[in-house]
Parts: sequence; structure tokens; C-alpha cells
Amino acid sequence: MKPKQSIPKELRYTVADFNREFPNDDSCLEHIKEQRWQDGVTKCEKCGVEQKHHRVTGRTAYACQACGNHIYPLAGTVFEKSTTSLKTWFYAMYLMGSTRCGISAKQIQRETGVTYKTAWRMFRQIRSLLSEEGLQLEGSTIEMDEMYHGGKRQRMGQRGRPSFGSHKVAVVGMVERNTEKRIGHVVARVAPNAKKETLHGLAKEYILPSSTVFTDDFVSYDGLQNLGYVHRRIRHSARIYVSGDVHTQAIEGFWSLVKRGIGGVYHNVSAKYLQTYLNEYSFRFNRRDTGNLLFKLILARVSQLAS
Ligand SMILES: [Zn+2]
Repeated sequence: MKPKQSIPKELRYTVADFNREFPNDDSCLEHIKEQRWQDGVTKCEKCGVEQKHHRVTGRTAYACQACGNHIYPLAGTVFEKSTTSLKTWFYAMYLMGSTRCGISAKQIQRETGVTYKTAWRMFRQIRSLLSEEGLQLEGSTIEMDEMYHGGKRQRMGQRGRPSFGSHKVAVVGMVERNTEKRIGHVVARVAPNAKKETLHGLAKEYILPSSTVFTDDFVSYDGLQNLGYVHRRIRHSARIYVSGDVHTQAIEGFWSLVKRGIGGVYHNVSAKYLQTYLNEYSFRFNRRDTGNLLFKLILARVSQLAS
């Protein structure tokens, strides 16, 4: 899939740019080393002081210039135990960062020549980097809603909720709407169920006290005002979808993006991995103004999350 043509020039990062910056595994390793230890300077465990480290030819190691002790930029990263080339990993991240609606393991398999299993594993690992769990929603107005994943009977655009005890998986979403009515960040979480205590728990986790929360009239949202929120509701059950400012169209827009992606690109997503797909969609949605420099943000997560 081609990147959107409307990306402003300064946010454009083409395949040619990618190949120039990352011609081989060495340049990828160097990039990760720089992210973790700028100029290779870090405290040497043996010397006990800051030392510059130089690349050890033929190994994924850098050696202390004073004592020769090795450090490994890939240690604790998703690349550590992989036998797949770093350039392939980087290219997979580039592709993920360059499409609006996602790319399948099948596509990456075709483009890089790795096996399907490897491509699939890489994608799962990369998605695991994209969690927005630590995000706090700061908009003064939040739309909150759930969607349900799985089960053959669910049709696109179908309203209503499965009964409790159904095998469908509940996903709870919250999205900011700030004062200029612009849409801000989204958080989407797989939930054990759509019961009141679950939804209230997620609200408390992500939404600041005294925010205004827009929901529909689903019973599990009852009592949100008791948590210190201004709670406004739209009566979906009466087929009312917008009443002045009160609606949940931003989060519904996000849901349709997710459903289109999962249906169109990823086909069958099992409940087990649903959260990682949601991570990918949220990560992309929350950084939708970064063009296909999104790749660099995904890449930055590698060393941020290195253990
Ligand atoms: Zn040393």
C-alpha cells in the first residue's frame, strides 16, 4: 500500500531515504547503539567510569576503549534472540510505519523473503512495543465506548451489545476531544467484560477527575458522575446519535478504522493478540500528524523499552 500522497515534505520518509540511512545490518546496529549510548559513551562495568566504546568487527558488540569489556546494544531488546537480520526488522518497522491501515505478515513475507512464521513473529514483537498503557488522557472531554470482537454473527455496523456471557471480546475505548473540538489521543483496551466495575475501573485509570465523559446509555456507564465526572449521555437505544455536542462519533470512527483494518488486512485476529493490534492502531492514530516518520517513533520504542 502506498503512503498517503498528502504527507507534507518534511514528514515524508521514502524507501530511498530508508535504504540510504539503513543500507545494512551494521548501520541498524549503529543506530540502536546511538539511541542507547550516544557516541558509544556509557559507564563501563569493569572500569567503573564513563568510557567510549568502539565496534567489535563481526560481532554485535562494542568494546570499552580502556579495558576492552564488551557491551551489547541489542541486549534486552526485541532483536536480542532473533536470527532475522536487523535490516529486515527495520524494514518491517518501516512498512508498519508507512501505511495508514496496517500491513500483513503476508505482505512483509513477500517483500523481505522471510518465512511467514518469522514475519508473523516479527510483527507481534513490534506491536508489543507500541503499547499506550501509560498514556493519560488530558482532554477536558472524553468519549467512552466499547466494541465487541469475534463471533460470526456480528455484522459491520450492527448496533446493540452481546449478552453477558457471550464469547465476544469487549474492547473499551476512550478518546479525547479538546476545546476546538479536535480529536486528541485514543486509548483502547481489551477488557475481561463490559460490566460496570470494569468500565468504571478503566475510566478511573485513564480519565482525569472532573472531565466531561460522553457515553451512550448502556447501563454499565451508570454512575460515572459518582466518580467525579460530568457524565453526558446520548440515547443510542432510542436511535439518537448526536445531540448538540453530545455524541461518541470520534471513538466510533476509531472503531471503524480498527474493524476495517482487522477485517481487511489482518483477517482473523484471535482474542489473545487483539490487544497488540489495538496497540498498533492506537499508536498510529495518536501520531497521525507525523506522516511516515512514524517509523522513527516505532524505532525509538525499541531502546526506550530495552530492559
Ligand atoms: Zn572498561
